[in-house]
Amino acid sequence: MSATERTYNFSAGPAVLPLPVLKKAQEELLCLPGAGASVMEISHRSKQFEPIISGAETNIRKVLNIPDNYTVLFLQGGALLQFAMIPMNILVGTGKKADYIITGSWTKKAHSEAKLVGDVNVIYDGKDHGYRRKPSAAEAKINADAAYAYICLNETIEGVQYQTVPDTGDVPLVADASSEIFSRPIDVSRFGILYACAQKNAGPAGVTVVIIRNDLLERSGEKVPSLLNYKKLAENKSMLNTPPTFAVYMVKLVTDWLLNDIGGLDKMYAINKEKAALLYEVIDNSNGFYKGHADKEFRSLMNVPFRLPSEELDKKFQDEAKTVGLATLGGHRSVGGLRASIYNAMPRDGVVALRDFMLDFAKKSG
Ligand SMILES: *Cc1c(COP(=O)(O)O)cnc(C)c1O
Repeated sequence: MSATERTYNFSAGPAVLPLPVLKKAQEELLCLPGAGASVMEISHRSKQFEPIISGAETNIRKVLNIPDNYTVLFLQGGALLQFAMIPMNILVGTGKKADYIITGSWTKKAHSEAKLVGDVNVIYDGKDHGYRRKPSAAEAKINADAAYAYICLNETIEGVQYQTVPDTGDVPLVADASSEIFSRPIDVSRFGILYACAQKNAGPAGVTVVIIRNDLLERSGEKVPSLLNYKKLAENKSMLNTPPTFAVYMVKLVTDWLLNDIGGLDKMYAINKEKAALLYEVIDNSNGFYKGHADKEFRSLMNVPFRLPSEELDKKFQDEAKTVGLATLGGHRSVGGLRASIYNAMPRDGVVALRDFMLDFAKKSG
């Protein structure tokens, strides 16, 4: 492979972007039509940028079919800042506790951040099962007086995904959708807050999309600093200060692509299911050569962690895959093994190439 050739990039994040999106950005990089400058060189309050941020919002509302009583925010600080902002805004001052359902690395981290801010309960922790599955409703009983219940829809590191949204009754459900937003249709009305950093499935790093039910905005206390205050951010349409303009522009292009090139989330979901099945089929039919991490019924459509019979083989697999243009297949530094992230923008051809490589490698080494 030459140094400037694109590989099939299985990175968990920042991750692959749709090629037509990159081409469009390249085309407009020196001059955004009508602006006389790059999107990075114009005011966020200019008449050229306004349709970009409002267009991104309109697209997101359309793609996810967001009800009118929800606000869409474009924030900075990644998913990690939401781990703190959520309790700062909708827990502190309520006199209640928040319920956390720990199903892997990202909910563990979210809980440890929330603990720094307010009163939190762990109502389920799957560590005894090695974070291979999601709990049943009976295993994760939400307290009726909780300020909110917190979940991660798709644990990116463990590759464990909710197949259905848990029912939390009147308790607002808060969900980290960072590694699965836009990958399947989802009923936004089931959530108090649904949020995602962009760099997995929605754009580049630098912007986080927060979808919040309007009544929850009223919980933000006067003492919450402005830039961390959902209510103030909403009142100022995410423009309390300069938003990450280029990242918002890219989210606009990615959602244009989802709507116009793909044709919406039903189509995207069908493609994603088919792609994931290609890999899981190899794992399931490998006589134990490849071992997936998650229990079958909770396997992620986006992140496929697996292991070979030894760490030496894990490494050999990764090194050889790289030489044929299948890149960034290493598991997260905290768990090791291998992980293929196959987000929306990973073309089916890339997954087929990986599938074929897996079959060959097993035959050769198994
Ligand atoms: C990547 C990821 C995060 C961390 O995102 P940052 O933007 O780096 O803070 C949190 N949660 C999930 C589910 C993720 O996939």
